[in-house]
Amino acid sequence: MHVYEPPEIYLLRPDAYTVWSDPVVLERLRWYRSVMLDEKPARFLLAKKTPVDADPYSSGLEDKELWRLHEKARRGFESLFREASEDGLDLGEYGRLETPRYSFLDVKVALARRMLRRCTLCEWRCRVDRTRMRGFCLIGGEAVVHSYFHHMGEEAPLVPSGTIFYGGCNLRCVYCQNWDISQADPLGGERVSPQRLALIQRRLRETGARNINHVGGEPTPHIPFILESLLYLDVNVPQLWNSNMYMSREAMELIRDVIDIWLPDFKYGNDRCAKRLSYVNNYYSTVTRNILEAYRSGGDMIIRHLVLPGHVECCTRRVLEWIARNTPRVLVNIMDQYRPEYKVLRYPDRFRDIARRPTREEIMEAYRIAEELGIVYEPVS
Ligand code: SF4
Repeated sequence: MHVYEPPEIYLLRPDAYTVWSDPVVLERLRWYRSVMLDEKPARFLLAKKTPVDADPYSSGLEDKELWRLHEKARRGFESLFREASEDGLDLGEYGRLETPRYSFLDVKVALARRMLRRCTLCEWRCRVDRTRMRGFCLIGGEAVVHSYFHHMGEEAPLVPSGTIFYGGCNLRCVYCQNWDISQADPLGGERVSPQRLALIQRRLRETGARNINHVGGEPTPHIPFILESLLYLDVNVPQLWNSNMYMSREAMELIRDVIDIWLPDFKYGNDRCAKRLSYVNNYYSTVTRNILEAYRSGGDMIIRHLVLPGHVECCTRRVLEWIARNTPRVLVNIMDQYRPEYKVLRYPDRFRDIARRPTREEIMEAYRIAEELGIVYEPVS
């Protein structure tokens, strides 16, 4: 069964259809497309059918026992995923699988709830009890959604994308385009329960979304609520993680099994630029570690890289070289739309290097580097 798509998309984004005639796109986004077309069950649905033999919500289990349960359940999950991705298990057959009392997804939810009480979801590792106070990301014990809609401006294979904008962020980019929801007023949106979040996803899918696009701000601080929403979500839809990838190892462990397509934002080629422009430590090692983990997890991937003016050598070149070396099968969106925003507009003398748009020469140089490295960028840029 093919999902319903609003007819106007043919007019607004004809490339959302023509992009699938490219064999490289078809091959690299094979899993995502099969879930999008309802041929295969999304990974979160497979996690729900993977049984565990203990109650993960029991307070009698220590953290390390719960992690062991998670590790053990992953083996069962991976064999189910292998079956689905190798043409065995389709969506119809999935429906006939038994639903266990407790599943791999329950273990993830139980672990995420515990992490919320001493938050280490990202590399800031604030260790605050988020039900009582907020950490660096400015988000507390509830999901905050600022808006959700069918986004028509994302990469061609993704639109219409059922995008959910969460509040707060763990980076402080001086040129942030969503600074109102990420930094200025992160709690200004709607507080939503996991059940309501599931309902939002259901509605987006039923009105034609090809995927659920978790973005912000940043979705990482919302991981416990997103995982819990998947317990209630009963429609098949690819889960898309649109993130700065500054998660902790533990957070990656929790989400890597339930994401069908990754959309990492790989900004900087070194820690110095990351610290100055996004106020973040250990950027490069953290983000490359997480992208690699996501790449190996079995989901598909489109990496985004925004070309910053004056940063082609220190950032663009290093980012593209890393991608070519480590994740050669991804598609890359080389983004040319940078414009000065937020603090760069307010303090142009402090951020003189990025207080302008990139020149045509800089963008052409970025494309030239990508071509030299054999990176596929054109279908999604
Ligand atoms: S998500 Fe990151 S920034 Fe937010 S409280 Fe947790 S560790 Fe701190």
